[in-house]
Amino acid sequence: MPRRFLVTGGAGYVGSHLVAALCDRGDTAVVLDNLSIGHRQAVPDGVELIEADLADAAAIDAVLKNGPWDAVFHFAALSQVGESMREPLRYLMQNAGNGMRLIDACVRHRVGRFVLSSTAALFSVTGDGLIPEDAPIDPNSAYGDSKWMIERTLRWASEVQGMRHACLRYFNAAGADPKGRLGEDHRPETHLMPLAIDAALGRRPPLTVFGNDYPTPDGTCVRDYIHVSDLAEAHLLAVDAMEDGDIRWNLGNGAGYSVMEILQAVERVSGLPVPHTISDRRAGDAASLVASAAPALRAGWQPKFADIDTIVRTAFLWRQAHPHGYGN
Ligand code: UDP
Repeated sequence: MPRRFLVTGGAGYVGSHLVAALCDRGDTAVVLDNLSIGHRQAVPDGVELIEADLADAAAIDAVLKNGPWDAVFHFAALSQVGESMREPLRYLMQNAGNGMRLIDACVRHRVGRFVLSSTAALFSVTGDGLIPEDAPIDPNSAYGDSKWMIERTLRWASEVQGMRHACLRYFNAAGADPKGRLGEDHRPETHLMPLAIDAALGRRPPLTVFGNDYPTPDGTCVRDYIHVSDLAEAHLLAVDAMEDGDIRWNLGNGAGYSVMEILQAVERVSGLPVPHTISDRRAGDAASLVASAAPALRAGWQPKFADIDTIVRTAFLWRQAHPHGYGN
């Protein structure tokens, strides 16, 4: 039986890949996005796009009233660690404030299930072990803290109001739709993989590596890159797994790659050198973030694009085919 879902931020990078997965499955997705970061062109034909801001409580109420909703997926947020260290209050007010208002509206309109796009930036682990869900929460950045505030709000909405939730902590979302329909297009782009690919293609200046004096094997930061379509699949699974209770899943491949190893992967896939320079550390970065995704794997999650060269290849093909991203 087809189901109907509201996807805030469904025109953004991870959100649009979820919308595609819902459509592929025959479900109905309604996208709510203010298009400040997302792209109209990332919303498939035939999918309703409601252009509204989460700060507009009356607009959000009107949308939620028009249910029933099988679940609300909440992606709409500012998502840059570095920016959040320059504008912490904007991140807290916008991400946490809008998230809390949305949760309140969902409770009032009796939405039964809520899936949060959360982050590995909740953790500030310095060792090289895998990070389980119950690792100490200690965000290094205002971005991470803003997501933690929403996670805590969801706990209250569940305990007191009975709204089930899934907090999905992505490690580093990367890659692009293997069918070539969607890709990564942030403006400005700040993420390592698209910047490294563009540097290789000669479309941007040499990549700046932020610090090579971290306590990691080659001194550059280690991250766990997870394919964006594998993330989308985890969301589909979470909605059903929530039947048995609230969910907190760390989502990654359990394999860490340093910044330099990502540059090498881009070189292997593209056959081009990645020009780069080394600079100081970027504020807010943790040395190493690698997931233990044991609970999601136990629930049946099976990442299909775990190989790092496969992840890079999907990203490379999309950027090669879309020199201007989604255009304009
Ligand atoms: N990074 C870098 N140069 C860049 C962008 C990113 O060295 O131009 C590093 C960054 O410091 C981090 C890793 O690449 O260690 C991944 O950063 P990204 O912004 O892609 O994701 P984040 O880990 O912040 O979510």
